[in-house]
Amino acid sequence: MNTVLITGASRGIGAAIAEVFARHGYQLILNCCHSETALKALSDELSDKYHVTVLPVIGDVSDPDFVANMFAIIHQQSLSVDVLINNAGISHIGLFQDMTPDEWQHIMNVNIGSVMNLCHLVIPSMVHRHHGRIINISSVWGNVGASCEAVYSASKGAINSFTKALAKELAPSNIQVNAIAFGAIETPMNAWLSKEEAEALADEIPAGREGTKEEAAQMICMVADAPDYLTGQIITMDGGWI
Ligand code: NAP
Repeated sequence: MNTVLITGASRGIGAAIAEVFARHGYQLILNCCHSETALKALSDELSDKYHVTVLPVIGDVSDPDFVANMFAIIHQQSLSVDVLINNAGISHIGLFQDMTPDEWQHIMNVNIGSVMNLCHLVIPSMVHRHHGRIINISSVWGNVGASCEAVYSASKGAINSFTKALAKELAPSNIQVNAIAFGAIETPMNAWLSKEEAEALADEIPAGREGTKEEAAQMICMVADAPDYLTGQIITMDGGWI
């Protein structure tokens, strides 16, 4: 049975990814930092509904010590990660000039530092088994940059170049590394938009709406199932927006 590790799985896109992979019969390792009750409730729900093993691990993926501890738990349970989905992320809306160093370092640590922490610890076992997939969750703002989201855009741009470089390092070991750059997806991350702002955003998107978290999860599952020759790609899914 294959095992998937999903960071940021307590809600939004991450919770939807967990459901799709459970439906496909994967064993799940689910992580989030703050929402312990929600993550445990999701774990119980998915293991009851799909009869799969679910291991919730609570902690901050931007902290290398926590990530090392998480992998120790994974190895103690005799699990090996076949698919790693680096989904945990945070956003910050506001002018760059109004941000403090602590604020921008926090965003970079959570959004790209976590990807490095997780990849660094998952790669040895994947190389040993000559098998594995890493999927990094990026954003269209990593491709083109967004006003008032300069640091978020930088963190996602870093994910894109890290993905392309790591794919080159790992292709000889039969490990595929891809990123998916989503446009606007309806999740708690965008809950700050007023009704009017959400309608204005939908008007800008040729598809006429935000994507759903279920569509995002379906796309991620397709990349996990894609032929081995797909690697090093930043796949955009944005309803034709950018
Ligand atoms: P969300 O609803 O806010 O969920 C974010 C998840 O990340 C939560 O489970 C959160 O759990 C977790 N998380 C945050 N900081 C963490 C940390 N330090 N350690 C571990 N987990 C952490 O956001 P979403 O919209 O589903 O976004 C998921 C990913 O998609 C993010 O990388 C985001 O940048 C990307 N994305 C989203 C959109 C969009 O429009 N929604 C568009 C493009 C890309 P806790 O707070 O409980 O820790």
